[in-house]
Amino acid sequence: MDSSIIGKIDKARKYAEEKERVTITSFKASFQGNHNTYQVSFDSGVWHCQCLFFTTRGVCGHTMALQRMLDEVLAHAAKDAVAAN
Ligand SMILES: [Zn+2]
Repeated sequence: MDSSIIGKIDKARKYAEEKERVTITSFKASFQGNHNTYQVSFDSGVWHCQCLFFTTRGVCGHTMALQRMLDEVLAHAAKDAVAAN
């Protein structure tokens, strides 16, 4: 392994501890619930889940769980969207 890659690995280790550097603006996830697997997405602060509960409430256990998992790196709009529901 060349020295430039070793330097990048060291930098990556430091960056990984500094979560304030990263803001996730969109992603898609496959969420394995107790009964089904649901496609959950987040784009520009807007959550979506294909489960029935989300359809009627605009929030669900899947989106709330992901919000907890990604709390430190989600865009602020995503946190506000979950908190408002
Ligand atoms: Zn859901």
